[in-house]
Amino acid sequence: MALNVIMMGPPGAGKGTQAERFAAVHGLPKISTGDILREAVQGGTELGRAAKGIMDAGGLVSDDIIIGVVRERLQRPDVDGGFVLDGFPRTVAQAVALDEIVSPRDLIVLDIVVPDEELVRRLGMRRVCGRCGAISAGGVTASEPAMCERCGGALVVRSDDSEEVVRQRLSVYGRDT
Ligand code: ADP
Repeated sequence: MALNVIMMGPPGAGKGTQAERFAAVHGLPKISTGDILREAVQGGTELGRAAKGIMDAGGLVSDDIIIGVVRERLQRPDVDGGFVLDGFPRTVAQAVALDEIVSPRDLIVLDIVVPDEELVRRLGMRRVCGRCGAISAGGVTASEPAMCERCGGALVVRSDDSEEVVRQRLSVYGRDT
C-alpha cells in the first residue's frame, strides 16, 4: 500500500528532520516546499525571485504559486509508491487543493506539537549547511562542529531564523496553518 504522508508542525518542530528519516526508512521521496523554494531562490529563478522577500519576512508564498509547484511535483512517477510532504499544506486553500490533487488516495497526517518558547530556543540555535542543506541542532559554542557532518560544508544561520522573523513565522503558523 502506498504511504502518502503529510508532516505537519510549526517552524522548528523537527518536521523536516522527521520527514527525512521517515522517507529514508520507507524508501519514499521527501518533498519539502521550503527546500524547493530555497533552491529556487539560490538559482535565481522566477519562482525564487517571487518567493525571496516573502520568505525573508516570515510570510507565506501565495497559494496559487505553491499549489502549482506541488501539483507539478506530485505528477512525477516517483510518488506512485507514496511520498512524505514537509511544509505543505499550510493554508486551508492548500489543503483543499491537495485533497483534489491526490484523490482518491488516502493521506496520513502526522502533527508534531511543540511549545512556542521551545521552538524559539531551537531555531535560535539552528545552523544549516550552506552547501547541502543538512540541519545541525547546535553550532553556537566553540565545541560544536562548525562544519557539516554530512558533507563538510560551512554551517550558516538560515536567513529567516532571526528571532524577529521566527516570531513572525510562528504567528503566521498559528493564524493560517
Ligand atoms: P519552517 O516550517 O521552519 O518555517 P520551511 O522550510 O518549511 O520552514 O519554509 C520556509 C519558508 O518557505 C516559509 O516561511 C514560507 O515563506 C515558505 N513556504 C514553505 N512552504 C510553504 C507553503 N506551503 N506555502 C507558503 N509558503 C511556504
